[in-house]
Amino acid sequence: MFDVHKIREDFPILKRTVNGKPLVYFDNAATSQTPQVVIDTIVDYYSNYNANIHRGVHTLSQEATDAYETARKKIQHHFNAKHTHEIILTSGTTHSINIVATGFTNFLSKGDEIIVSALEHHSNIVPWQMLCERTGAILKVIPMNEEGELLMNVYDQLLSDKTKLVFTNHISNALGTINAIEEIIEKAHKVGAAVLIDGAQSCPHIKPDVQALDVDFYVVSAHKLCGPTGVGMLYGKEEWLNKLPPYQGGGEMIDQVTFEKTTYAGLPHKFEAGTPNICGGIAFGAALDYMNTIGFDNIATYENELLEYGTKRLLEIEGLKIYGTSKNKTSVISFNLENIHPYDVGTIVDKLGIAVRTGHHCAQPIMDFYKIPGTIRASFSFYNTKEEIDVLVEAVKKAKMMLS
Ligand SMILES: *Cc1c(COP(=O)(O)O)cnc(C)c1O
Repeated sequence: MFDVHKIREDFPILKRTVNGKPLVYFDNAATSQTPQVVIDTIVDYYSNYNANIHRGVHTLSQEATDAYETARKKIQHHFNAKHTHEIILTSGTTHSINIVATGFTNFLSKGDEIIVSALEHHSNIVPWQMLCERTGAILKVIPMNEEGELLMNVYDQLLSDKTKLVFTNHISNALGTINAIEEIIEKAHKVGAAVLIDGAQSCPHIKPDVQALDVDFYVVSAHKLCGPTGVGMLYGKEEWLNKLPPYQGGGEMIDQVTFEKTTYAGLPHKFEAGTPNICGGIAFGAALDYMNTIGFDNIATYENELLEYGTKRLLEIEGLKIYGTSKNKTSVISFNLENIHPYDVGTIVDKLGIAVRTGHHCAQPIMDFYKIPGTIRASFSFYNTKEEIDVLVEAVKKAKMMLS
């Protein structure tokens, strides 16, 4: 049984106060909070078996290597990758995207086309722009509508035999829209294009199956799904990862080194130069275990309740507008009060102990579309409650009174 009050006991930070008020943490789309089991995993690593991996024959090094490689297997099973070596451990979504964007430099020529969506995070725009600058490829954008949904009929028109790559997020961090990635992937493959899906925002809410999706690359940050910062995943199909050149040179990614010629290690080590975030990788595995214990079906059902309740309650406030109203969305509510700057609202609600995000959420093109400077974004997680939403609603009402 899903019991939110019991779950909240797992998160020590939820007991603290901010400005004398109980913390209400609604900035989950920026980073999630960390349960005690993950904190314990980190403490255990540094207290008991901190050592460099893959190198030493000594006991600590073997224990650390085993734990790190066990985590990789957990990640593989969670995302249902076919092979363990298709899981590259990176520093996060941004790093993962850059590995792929840099790797494609040799595969693109002038006039080739890359399609991105209008709903992208900057980390899924800028690396592709840089790739276009290097290769002369052209960036095309799938536009969005008022509801914050991609215009799939325009996507159909953009696709052609010039399309080499398609990139979109699974779920928009700014609006919460769940994109029709099954359709995006299938249509891209019909014209022979590869697809990268940015799963940073989907993985806290749903459990993707990379084989069922038939996706070429899928990228994730652990810190959005109850894990630590500075670690994430690049999933790539084996044939793609074999084709892509290494991203960085260094230790751990080589087979043989002489001054004349170096040969590279096989997967996954080819993409893991240098000492990785060992503790982070192990804690990433612990975070997935934790979330799977709660159950992604339970998480989705409960978060949908919060989304419905939050939407209804916030819309009771006159002059409040919600951006991103797709029927297919997760528990993210982006909103503004008429004629009031989002930053001012954010400052007042923080005084009342509530953490929301204000600004463009690293998705300036979306804000330009709506012709607004930014929004206030409340993003709910499975450890949030309806009572906390009530606190937010009262705080927004108060801000409105003070600012108008
Ligand atoms: C958070 C986020 C990113 C960036 O993740 P980092 O951990 O900062 O690399 C990219 N895309 C989306 C959709 C995100 O929500």
